[in-house]
Amino acid sequence: MLVTHVLGDCPKCRGKLQYGNVTVKGFGVLRGCENCSYSITIPLPKIKKKILYLDQFFFSSAFKKHDPRFVKAAGRIREISASQLLVVPFSTIHEDETHQWRGFDGKNKEDLMEFIKSTSRGHQFKLAYDVEESQILKAFQVFLANKPEIFDLEERIAIDPDVHEWDDYFRIDVGRYLGDIELIRSLKNQSVETLVDLFPGWRISTTTFDQNVKLEMQEAAKSYMESYFKYIARIASGDVNALFDSPITSQVVQLLLFCFSKEIPQDQQWRKISDFFISPHFSEIPHLWISARIFAVLKKKLKQGAYTNRDRALTHFKGFFKDISHIATYAPYCDAFVMDNAMASIVADPDIHLESRYGTKIFSLNNWEQLFIWLDDLEASMSQEHREGLIAAYPSTSL
Ligand SMILES: [Zn+2]
Repeated sequence: MLVTHVLGDCPKCRGKLQYGNVTVKGFGVLRGCENCSYSITIPLPKIKKKILYLDQFFFSSAFKKHDPRFVKAAGRIREISASQLLVVPFSTIHEDETHQWRGFDGKNKEDLMEFIKSTSRGHQFKLAYDVEESQILKAFQVFLANKPEIFDLEERIAIDPDVHEWDDYFRIDVGRYLGDIELIRSLKNQSVETLVDLFPGWRISTTTFDQNVKLEMQEAAKSYMESYFKYIARIASGDVNALFDSPITSQVVQLLLFCFSKEIPQDQQWRKISDFFISPHFSEIPHLWISARIFAVLKKKLKQGAYTNRDRALTHFKGFFKDISHIATYAPYCDAFVMDNAMASIVADPDIHLESRYGTKIFSLNNWEQLFIWLDDLEASMSQEHREGLIAAYPSTSL
């Protein structure tokens, strides 16, 4: 056995400094001898880590080291994560944003990705699109079963339960950037100019907040339907490329159709699907609930006179669509979320209030000291059993 942390002499063969920790796996640390076959597993206590999401702005700012506030926070987050109290998984949206990063000060996108992965200790959320799809599918099944529309989040939709296990010594780099999956779906008019050019119209629109939320829901349903029919039409016309380059959202309706047994006539299946799209089950789907309201709050703020300077708005909203993806997809599954000031003020708006809706604490530079207090409290909450587990699993830890 390959001993990673030498603890002393082997209790069986007496081999000098041959015995120690081999690996940490699940809720145990394997100890063994380099010399003989002796091994033993020391159990570690069950733990439940807090899940923190760091947006791209945090990672790139901490990586560039221009602003000491981010560097300090990143250091503290790394410490508490090493204590197995916290996990800061990265997502496919980070991968996409990093992939489009132009580099800085001799560093390239691979360096930034490595920084993100090492801060995350290799922990990763499930693919953004898979989370979106699982949520829709789950809501549809509940709808078909005539059960109430309340959405049960289920952490495993967004993240593997093994994030709550004790970390092993070595990070396994899965290293698969799936590339254009998210890019393909984000091509639709998602430029900051297009967005900001809509502001004057939104400012004078007379629709109410609730109407705007409803409009967003209809738009979402419409885009799932349209992209599906476009896909089907391309396939029917013999365009095999449709299989490879269709937006991934075109698969949603297909998945819903798979939920029906063959005996149910097609017209009934379609009626059910269109009923679902206007049902509360659909509008309670977390990623839709959040993204629809982010747009509706933005419209509300515009009517109240915010973001009148076009140039400033262009800078302000540069990462808006990606920011929405990060938040809408993952925030409900996080205990806390670090985002920029502009997004924080939107999601803290009483019409969204992520914290009361999903229990997610929001941190931004506007309440930066609160982030440190939250981290301190988390560290202070460590049980004696957990502390002993840390010493057993990671003998070089200084506590
Ligand atoms: Zn031995």
